[in-house]
Amino acid sequence: MSADTSTEQRVGARDGADTADAADETAATTETTDSSRSADPVIELSDVEFGYTATPVVRDISLAIEPGEYLAVVGPNGSGKSTLMKLMLGLLEPDQGTATLFGESAHRFDDGQRVGYVAQHASASKEMPITVREVVKMGRFPHVGFGTLSSEDWQVVDEALVTVGMGEFANRRITQLSGGQRQRAFIARALASEAEMLVLDEPTVGVDAESVDAFYDLLESLNDQGITVLLIEHDLGAVTDHADRVVCLNGRVHFDGPTEEFVDSDALARAFGTAANLAGDGG
Ligand code: ADP
Repeated sequence: MSADTSTEQRVGARDGADTADAADETAATTETTDSSRSADPVIELSDVEFGYTATPVVRDISLAIEPGEYLAVVGPNGSGKSTLMKLMLGLLEPDQGTATLFGESAHRFDDGQRVGYVAQHASASKEMPITVREVVKMGRFPHVGFGTLSSEDWQVVDEALVTVGMGEFANRRITQLSGGQRQRAFIARALASEAEMLVLDEPTVGVDAESVDAFYDLLESLNDQGITVLLIEHDLGAVTDHADRVVCLNGRVHFDGPTEEFVDSDALARAFGTAANLAGDGG
């Protein structure tokens, strides 16, 4: 399940591979003022149904994500996780029901820098000689328009790098990083753009175990600082260790509630068939 190009074009954080396009698009978005930020749910889906053909892939989906939550969406392959994420981000429009993002119709939402998106297998073009600091700098473009970055903007960039533990790699090329380091750089870019929500699509696939733990610790500390986290995840260990709330999907929502209740529930068996599938299915 990899996100398509449209996902990266709609939301604030992008893969380093499409630097020039991303810079132009990001610069074209308008700055958000604090006064426009309200206590609306970050995301709200109401009776949503969607199918790529006449057959619905997801249906009867009603859920709200409140600011500051750390929510994980789990489910077997093909259960509609990626489709649900695209509905939430307005990349797909529901056939029935409504989807809102920061209180606006998700499909019409154009304040992309409020959402930092980290794709699965975040990769960088082999030819792109861009440094980590330059990637993170892109996060400031929505805030400076087509102008140059001020010293304050650069300070935000450098603080974001330090926050994700990548300060010493600032001048390294993005292509020279490990998978885990690259994902940190993309989180730093989202922080530089002052994203209020991070959406991560199986962000640690292919990342070594030690870096995975550190990556989830970082997410948790960002969540502690108030950033809403939406994690699409196949690794149930990561989910049960870190997320506060779990949505278990298989076309419909089989469970939506606190992680502790999810662990004790039979939602896994109902959604996946047997719990054994979970540990064994790495896709
Ligand atoms: P998951 O992310 O849980 O693996 P997806 O949302 O990717 O599930 O897919 C759910 C269902 O929708 C699958 O049966 C998949 O084949 C189908 N599907 C996904 N994307 C498309 C598409 N662009 N066109 C047609 N069918 C699709």
